[in-house]
Amino acid sequence: MDSLTSITRKIQNFCEARDWDKYHSPKDLAIGISTEANELLDLFRFKTMEDMDKMMSDEAKRRLISDELADVFYFLIRFAQMYKFDLLASLEEKMVTNEKRYSIERSRGSNVKYDQFLNEDKDEA
Ligand SMILES: [Mg+2]
Repeated sequence: MDSLTSITRKIQNFCEARDWDKYHSPKDLAIGISTEANELLDLFRFKTMEDMDKMMSDEAKRRLISDELADVFYFLIRFAQMYKFDLLASLEEKMVTNEKRYSIERSRGSNVKYDQFLNEDKDEA
């Protein structure tokens, strides 16, 4: 059993033992993903690059970040488990899309979003 399957079962068992399926609609799980992602974001609020560099080598701060990453991951896995999405397959498929959208030639060293390429092409024409 791979580790994603193992942790998925652990989360499923955790939730079912508490009779939480009834609280885990797609909407509420999506809210969970978003809320936890924002808790992660809040850790960096008003922080400078220097502050964030220090955070990355501070064990207590890393613990807080790790907890929020885990919370986001928990809700992602729970959503996929409840509604039968294969997260690894989803990511594999999305990476194929990303490879097309962001060719190395086009995107190396650039943070331009793929939908802006068209505008750039127009500007160059
Ligand atoms: Mg949290």
